[in-house]
Amino acid sequence: MLLASDTQLNQKSYYEASVTRPAVMAPLKGAIQADVVVVGAGFSGLSAAIELAQRGLSVVVLEADRVCGGASGRNGGQAIVGFASGQEPFEQQLGPAVARKAWDMSLEAINLMDERIAKHGIACDRVKGYLYVADSARKARALEADMQSLESVYGLKTEFAVGTDVQRHIQSNTYCASAYETVSGHIHPLKFGMGLARAALSLGVKIYEHSAVVGIARGASLVASTAQGQVTARFGVLAGNCTLAEYGPKVAPELTPRIMPVGTYIVGTAPLDPALCRQLIPSRSAVCDNNFILDYFRFSADHRMLFGGRVSYSTKTPANLEVLMRKRMGQIFPALTDIAIEFVWGGFVDISMNRAPDFGRLGNNLYYLQGFSGHGVALTSLAGKLVAEAVAGQAERFDVFAGLKHHEFPGGPWLRMPSLVLGTLYHRLRDLL
Ligand SMILES: Cc1cc2nc3c(=O)[nH]c(=O)nc-3n(C[C@H](O)[C@H](O)[C@H](O)COP(=O)(O)OP(=O)(O)OC[C@H]3O[C@@H](n4cnc5c(N)ncnc54)[C@H](O)[C@@H]3O)c2cc1C
Repeated sequence: MLLASDTQLNQKSYYEASVTRPAVMAPLKGAIQADVVVVGAGFSGLSAAIELAQRGLSVVVLEADRVCGGASGRNGGQAIVGFASGQEPFEQQLGPAVARKAWDMSLEAINLMDERIAKHGIACDRVKGYLYVADSARKARALEADMQSLESVYGLKTEFAVGTDVQRHIQSNTYCASAYETVSGHIHPLKFGMGLARAALSLGVKIYEHSAVVGIARGASLVASTAQGQVTARFGVLAGNCTLAEYGPKVAPELTPRIMPVGTYIVGTAPLDPALCRQLIPSRSAVCDNNFILDYFRFSADHRMLFGGRVSYSTKTPANLEVLMRKRMGQIFPALTDIAIEFVWGGFVDISMNRAPDFGRLGNNLYYLQGFSGHGVALTSLAGKLVAEAVAGQAERFDVFAGLKHHEFPGGPWLRMPSLVLGTLYHRLRDLL
């Protein structure tokens, strides 16, 4: 398994250290029935389960590990409007009117996340505010062009700054341009995910942990099998991210070639002086640069710097990860050069070739949600809602996404990694310009 094979990835995250998990939910044993079987208890699967249960359907969620043990409980917590791909795939493939709908749905995703936080009383350190930064003249021009387009076409209000004005938003000499907006922001992802699980249970959803689905028999009814049990259901939702096929090649082999698991990593420092945090990022925004291999960071509620970056395309943790991350963090914030790092962890993002989300159906009753491409904290909430609408017979909004064409990574199962690495080397060189 990707996660199990990598000890660095498995180190305890700051998030795991800052929650108390409830007792393990027992694995599935025996044969049961439901209207819908959901594979995966990350944000996507839990969101789908909540929406389906709210529509009166009986739902079983099968989770290979623990609730939000995958990307949903490990991520940067940055809830960002829009898509990792930008609007281009929607505009180019589906035209301006549909691209507009997609954008509006990305706004709805953030609102939906906030509604759930409020409705279910999920205490998850929600902060609004987002800062996009650029570290060279070329990238500053690209950032300005992107933000102008989002403002003029889609109405996203941003405050653009260049030169010394950037220091009002972030005290670092690394950046020559920034754009600040208050639609996006950040959360403690594991607290949020555990809150979603509680909400799902309260709606009658059954969740089984340590219940990997190893195969699904398809037909008018679906039968999802685990080591010790089976769920027969009219509908299925595959929300297993890039580890889905790891557990059973018979789960959904046709989806695997369109997704590349890419490792990304986060370090969590010891708590800092709150005054220093206010000085470095006065708005407490989440921050992200516009490099291809990007840095993303923010302060936690207890004043730790959670600094994310680096990637691995080989699924192996990079050597000297902590040293590399500390160096990068220290270049951006010299005041943090010697601060103790208490947590180092990582996880896999499920990137698609064009970085746009890849939602669709296998047959007419097995839905899948994948390809969030590192941009799933907010979008997964909406994805679950769209799949529930489709199961309930209203597929128009789901089909906005299902209408996007996706390509397989070139080279087949064995060569897709080297070809992606070569592509990445090119982008890494461009990041330096
Ligand atoms: C380190 C890191 C940082 C990130 N930072 C950000 C960020 O700041 N902002 C942002 O928007 N996005 C970020 N992302 C991406 C974001 O976390 C994901 O897009 C999102 O969590 C995907 O949710 P999911 O439910 O689809 O997948 P997951 O959370 O991965 O859930 C899938 C679940 O399915 C289970 N599963 C898989 N196969 C099976 C099977 N066969 N049977 C049963 N269960 C199975 C897995 O165990 C897992 O729990 C980051 C990701 C990582 C790893």
